Amino acid sequence: MFDAQIHFDFQPTADLVDVSDAVSWLLSALRMNGQICGKEWPIVRRDSGCAAYVLLPAEDALSPDHHNVYVRQIIAERLPQAGLSEPRITILGEDLDGDDSCPCGTPPSYVLYTTYICLESPVRCGGCFLPIPLYALPKTNNDEYSDVISWQSNYQSCDALQMGCQVLERAATRELSRVESTLSQEGLRICREWEASTGVPFYYYLYRYGARSWARELARLCPVCGGSWRLEEPWHLFDFKCDQCRLLS
Ligand SMILES: [Zn+2]
Ligand SMILES: [Zn+2]
Repeated sequence: MFDAQIHFDFQPTADLVDVSDAVSWLLSALRMNGQICGKEWPIVRRDSGCAAYVLLPAEDALSPDHHNVYVRQIIAERLPQAGLSEPRITILGEDLDGDDSCPCGTPPSYVLYTTYICLESPVRCGGCFLPIPLYALPKTNNDEYSDVISWQSNYQSCDALQMGCQVLERAATRELSRVESTLSQEGLRICREWEASTGVPFYYYLYRYGARSWARELARLCPVCGGSWRLEEPWHLFDFKCDQCRLLS
């Protein structure tokens, strides 16, 4: 991941509420298009305008080549209406904590995977297990990825509750670990649709917690087809993989 500054010039007479709204619209549209990560971006007042500080999934993430119809429309219409200039991008450097993005070009498979602290894209390469910017994949919902980002946000909320161990821990753990949960069903739908549009296998991860014994854990079967899915050697972070059902655990 890279840190970047997006600078906007505006006249001293501009209405600050309009300015703030227009900048927020653009940042939200970039987020829904997978061009910026996370959902918190400080916006700093400057003499000649303002600057937003954002996390990018890759150095060229803000290139116009990756813009969708909403980002283009906001830059062309909404920003000038609020008295703002075109955004100017400065790449500040590589983020200290963020992962690099996948260099594979054509991944052999994909995994939908996130955690409560992950700011990266929730799509990982099955070859190198590094994140893949969402805009590198076919759009999933009205020329953006709002359904994927919503799944990621719900997953992270459940994972945070599960980690916190105080509020709704059991309910959150069920959502993360059961294949029939609302969260898993939505994740599996996203994987199926992406597999259909890319022609590349797309796996879904089921969290595992609270095995009764090691022997019973090893004998665990795929929760969908009932087949054997234990791996001889772990594959990335996973000990179980069903190629038929595209499930990992
Ligand atoms: Zn890769
Ligand atoms: Zn299976």
